[in-house]
Amino acid sequence: MRTHFCGLVDEALLGQSVTLCGWTDVARNLGGVCFIDLRDHEGVVQVVVEPDQAALFEVAASLGYEDVLRVVGTVRARHSINDRIRSGRVEIVASEIEILNKAGKLPFYGHENPGEDSRLKYRHLDLRRPEMQRMMRTRIKLVQALRRHLDSAGFQDIETPILTKATPEGARDYLVPSRVHGGQFFALPQSPQLFKQLLMMAGFDRYYQIARCFRDEDLRADRQPEFTQLDMEFAFVRERDVQDFVEDMIRKVLREVDGIELEQPFPRITYAEAMRRYGSDKPDLRIDLELIDIAEAVRGCEFKVFAEWAEHADGRVVALRAPQAQLSRKQIDDYAAFVTRYGAKGLAWMRVDDLARGREGINSPIAKFLSDEAIAAILKLANAENGDLLFFGAGTYKTVSDFMGALRLKLGRDLGRVANAWKPLWVTDFPMFEWDEEGGRYVALHHPFTAPAVDDIADLRANAKIAVSRGYDMVLNGNEIGGGSIRIHRTDMQAAVFELLGIEAEEAQLKFGFLLEALNHGAPPHGGIAFGIDRIAALIAGTESIRDVIAFPKTASAQCLLTSAPSPIPAAQLKELSVKVDLPQG
Ligand code: ASP
Repeated sequence: MRTHFCGLVDEALLGQSVTLCGWTDVARNLGGVCFIDLRDHEGVVQVVVEPDQAALFEVAASLGYEDVLRVVGTVRARHSINDRIRSGRVEIVASEIEILNKAGKLPFYGHENPGEDSRLKYRHLDLRRPEMQRMMRTRIKLVQALRRHLDSAGFQDIETPILTKATPEGARDYLVPSRVHGGQFFALPQSPQLFKQLLMMAGFDRYYQIARCFRDEDLRADRQPEFTQLDMEFAFVRERDVQDFVEDMIRKVLREVDGIELEQPFPRITYAEAMRRYGSDKPDLRIDLELIDIAEAVRGCEFKVFAEWAEHADGRVVALRAPQAQLSRKQIDDYAAFVTRYGAKGLAWMRVDDLARGREGINSPIAKFLSDEAIAAILKLANAENGDLLFFGAGTYKTVSDFMGALRLKLGRDLGRVANAWKPLWVTDFPMFEWDEEGGRYVALHHPFTAPAVDDIADLRANAKIAVSRGYDMVLNGNEIGGGSIRIHRTDMQAAVFELLGIEAEEAQLKFGFLLEALNHGAPPHGGIAFGIDRIAALIAGTESIRDVIAFPKTASAQCLLTSAPSPIPAAQLKELSVKVDLPQG
């Protein structure tokens, strides 16, 4: 049907006859001549219809956006050169134009920004846009490069079930009713976690899968209910074996896909240090601001909030220095309002006008509650300079870290302190458990199959509160792009961890009996990691939204606007599934 792709026609074809197919990007009738920009997946080429071709001219003049054409013509050099595109030095003089399909009224045209809802509803049109084609191809290249890398390193690509049993990764399950077993349900996998572990027990040694995962989470701006992971597992490994392999993989693949150079080796910090310095377990190291603990400087001061939290066993008082920040009172108030969203009760501040003048040289609503020594100590700890603004946070360790960490990111962006760079790192030594106030029990910070750093069960039981796990995350520019761990490979340890998580022996048997048994059948030490393909593709493609690198994404409220899913199903079908719908009133 065609001889060449539109976007690839160039000077090498001068004088030749070509047959092209594509969409009418624009058609311009300039009275004398008619120009058609013909577009396919490779790009655009200019087609010219000269006035002496009366019949052709009529066809060309009738064209509308997105009409589908087949054009036969000769390649010739072009007068007005466009060096931004490959075909920019040539044009096609048409001898034949066939309208393969005329487009009807369109909800939007290629060059408009139609708004997210329209884009998702008419995704086929949205994806036709060159920018979307570029972003989707970035994803395709990424997955290809990962596969190549892993295939050549001897990893086995194995599919795991989609209709399965719940695997706890901390979200709700999507459930599928079984027709044959009325009243019973499959869960869609939150991850292939248990299957990949079983594959290690089955002797496959190294596994990977580009795996779809499903998590029914509460609405968050950039989450998708289904997303894609590069899921990996290795037998007979310790942390560094996994980390070194995947660090090398990510470095090579990002170089190959987009010429991105990542430092070697990645910096490594512990979870505790990440929280202390950045108030986050996925610090964005492109921003050079750090949290500074000042409890020692404000202990016993008259500012009650500081004094109290400086003494508290689980308290934290920190300063964040905004270098040379000329902020108005209104802007400061806006930051105070911003941090309340992250649990802050207030945000104290201090402007540093003239260091040499001590108390006289600063401006702060809390200065009157601070001694000269305290002020001097704060300024020293914060390394303050004239023109700086210091923000302060006090409260529980977790709350302060959260809101000051969020403030660090916001200030970094607002003050233009985000370096134009790629900043990867490893975060290690995560806590094993988190105390869930509401449930009154421990929950696994990673997942319940993550090994603790200690081998001894009695030790783990005695020190559960401060136990460290063998989990690790890879972080890039403030995004957790991969997370994994060394797993528990002994039945007794797995049973003990279930017990610490408040999963009764009976429940553990019911839910994970198959795992406990398999661990007892000669399970090798093993570990792995999973990378978020959508997020990595978005980062490389330079877009904020993972929806831009997913062909058919869902909205933030977990709906597909294209197909109108989810949707009610007929009563007969429900009956067949032994399912009754019981919607809340109102
Ligand atoms: N299953 C984990 C997750 O999906 C990744 C891993 O531990 O390998 O986050």
